[in-house]
Amino acid sequence: MTLAGAVALVTGASRGIGRAIAREIAEQGASVVVHYGSNENAARETLAALPAGDHVVLRADLGDPAEARRLVDRTFERYGRVDILVNNAGIYERQPVLETSFEEWLDVWRRTLDTNLIGPATLIHAVVPHMVDGGGGRIVNVSSRGAFRGEPTHAAYGASKAGLNSLAQSLAKALAPHNVFITTVAPGYVATDMAGPYLSGPQGAQIVADIPLGRVAAAEEVARLVAFLATPGTESLTGAVIDVNGASYLR
Ligand code: NAD
Repeated sequence: MTLAGAVALVTGASRGIGRAIAREIAEQGASVVVHYGSNENAARETLAALPAGDHVVLRADLGDPAEARRLVDRTFERYGRVDILVNNAGIYERQPVLETSFEEWLDVWRRTLDTNLIGPATLIHAVVPHMVDGGGGRIVNVSSRGAFRGEPTHAAYGASKAGLNSLAQSLAKALAPHNVFITTVAPGYVATDMAGPYLSGPQGAQIVADIPLGRVAAAEEVARLVAFLATPGTESLTGAVIDVNGASYLR
């Protein structure tokens, strides 16, 4: 177990990629904070699926900076340290520019940036002093292929993930001298509830046809990479943004 003794805060861990990350990191020996936004029962199902350890479930609306800060405070109060932060929680809201009213356009932009970009930025700002005091830490962000390839019907989402990549690159430079390392994974479609309607909808066959591997990614594939990036001995990867897309979009 490569993460024995570490404390990891995984956001959006009640389902999907976040649940798989919580499990993978716990299997490496870390104590995991299973963060959720609204579905406590689902978060408790994640908790029950983890190997035995000192894990907890904590709620916070990451669109609210005060709640995001409090989540880090509660994690620190509970464990006295935070070694790993995984910024996984996110929303994917449709907003085709020609079919969306001005008010709805702005609402989706605000909600998306608040959740997908300002949420992680707030958590990072709150957690980094604890990491520095504790001798170092690792932050892994879950971004998206859409940041590079474009998101014709989800423009705010694409922009939020491009912002997340840039945030991670800037802070990788700022924090490497302090032993805090920041990496980012950029999946294409992953088989989760978020992607379900698209994969089972009319464009589902075309989505898979665009992937040379012949299938979308499994949440566990993303989780294994995140756990690897959270592991000591990967320091030189800091600042990297790593594709997980079956060769569907190569940069
Ligand atoms: P999901 O919808 O299954 O899970 C997202 C989680 O984030 C949920 O548990 C949700 O409750 C939580 N969340 C959303 N808004 C929140 C808020 N304001 N406060 C607290 N929690 C909140 O999605 P997923 O597919 O598991 O996606 C996880 C991450 O991976 C997201 O950042 C997503 O953008 C990214 N991603 C997913 C795919 C995909 O195809 N599924 C592809 C690329 C990137």
